[in-house]
Amino acid sequence: MAGLLFGTGGIPHSARSSSTIDGINRIAELGLGCMEIEFVQGVRMGEAGARLVSEAAARTGVKLSAHAPYFINLNAREPEKIRASQSRILQTARIALLCGAESIAFHAAFYLNDPPEKAYDTVKKYLVETLNQLKRERNPVWVRPEVMGKVSQFGTLEEILNLSAEVEGVAPCLDFAHWHARTGEFNSYQEFVSILQQVKERLGRVALDNMHIHVSGIAYGKKGEMKHLNLKESDFQYSELLKALRDYYVKGIVICESPNLEEDGLLLQATYESLLKQS
Ligand SMILES: [Zn+2]
Repeated sequence: MAGLLFGTGGIPHSARSSSTIDGINRIAELGLGCMEIEFVQGVRMGEAGARLVSEAAARTGVKLSAHAPYFINLNAREPEKIRASQSRILQTARIALLCGAESIAFHAAFYLNDPPEKAYDTVKKYLVETLNQLKRERNPVWVRPEVMGKVSQFGTLEEILNLSAEVEGVAPCLDFAHWHARTGEFNSYQEFVSILQQVKERLGRVALDNMHIHVSGIAYGKKGEMKHLNLKESDFQYSELLKALRDYYVKGIVICESPNLEEDGLLLQATYESLLKQS
């Protein structure tokens, strides 16, 4: 098995139904390796359902992760919004554990015009509380704040790596499309290498052995991300990214978030495999 698994953010379009289990079965049929369960509109799965999902994943060998609801802002002004955000992360982590998933990804916060350093301290404080709760529950799921694509969103590469270094149980979700859209840069082999080098320096080799990556094509403007695109309709240099991942022996999962989901997931996987043969 290659060090990297490829899959989709959500149920493949060609699945028999929109159920998570049919999604897992379709991932296996397509020869992909992983799937991220999208709880983006809310965690709508019970414990019994999660156990069935876990069985399907074990039976097919498909590796799972989960994406927490979008309605999270750990830098919200209102205490009740902070509590609700924390509880959405906790709910996602609890169900993810029952599903047999090892990681959850989430969008941590908005700056709301705060200086980034102030937002960072606030996000970190509430994230520490959340991780402490998971620790009390002996829930070992990796909690992964995502590198975000809009300049209004908390989640620069540096912020995510700092949280990962400073909060136990936190690891990065590296969304390369988001970072490209946010900066207008980071779309070449050398730049992708510089990101991986930064991860290695800040978090150690161990982080590159356990990476959680999001990739898609992306449209962007001055304020960053506008919308996701299919890879071939975008300027995203995915082959260069895959070369960098190969050359750094990165291990973990690559979740494709292009609108065409499995089509680009398969494209990424096939490209990566052909790059492995060339090396
Ligand atoms: Zn996301």
